Amino acid sequence: MITVEELVVRYGSATALDGVELQVGAGEMVALVGPNGAGKSTLVDTLSGVVRPASGRVATEGRFAHVPEGRQLFGDLSVEDNLRLGAWRVRDRDPRHVYGVLPDLEGLRGRRAGALSGGQQQMVAVGRALMGRPDVLAVDELSLGLAPKIVDDLVRHLVRLNREEGMAVLLIEQNARLAFEVCSRAYVLEAGRVVAAGACDELARGS
Ligand code: ADP
Ligand code: ADP
Repeated sequence: MITVEELVVRYGSATALDGVELQVGAGEMVALVGPNGAGKSTLVDTLSGVVRPASGRVATEGRFAHVPEGRQLFGDLSVEDNLRLGAWRVRDRDPRHVYGVLPDLEGLRGRRAGALSGGQQQMVAVGRALMGRPDVLAVDELSLGLAPKIVDDLVRHLVRLNREEGMAVLLIEQNARLAFEVCSRAYVLEAGRVVAAGACDELARGS
């Protein structure tokens, strides 16, 4: 669903990604972990077309969606308007199927997004990404700044979508322990290079 080959991305003279190889297959849940500045967001931005590679190849199959770092909601608009507007590429903008997946959102539909807690805002950001019924979802720093209980709850929703609907997931996390718990495979990115890749249980044992 995601193929990244020999990817090089530069910002001016600085190399943010340097020969990255990564694959996410249909129905897989894969982690991309690494410290701040490793190049994780740059990789997602390249997948979503915001950043252009200097060389190499990125490709996504099927419908691709991503949950951006920092959520990026319209704070003055309602939850439901965020779902509809944020999914402007989607023809069918009825959020009902998203409320089916994330029932808590339905109770919040009329609330101003900016007035919600961080965890609720992250749920809106996930819901917005689900509006287009993606085949593959990249989630950038789901856990950042959130309480562990809320993170667990959100991650469980993603795991369920993965298991029950076969949605492939790329979980991009600074929190490697969390990512290793729920993913089968992982890539470790450091300073723009993949320094380790493999099964999560093996990577967790080695670290
Ligand atoms: P992250 O947590 O992913 O490292 P940052 O806080 O570094 O995020 O980056 C936030 C925003 O600033 C992003 O859009 C990123 O592309 C941009 N950014 C990061 N580093 C630089 C930089 N050195 N020069 C200009 N923009 C940057
Ligand atoms: P991560 O998401 O792992 O924190 P980023 O992809 O945000 O890493 O950043 C990778 C590197 O690229 C960092 O050194 C960052 O400062 C730099 N960078 C990111 N965005 C920009 C930008 N828009 N302009 C210049 N440098 C950037």
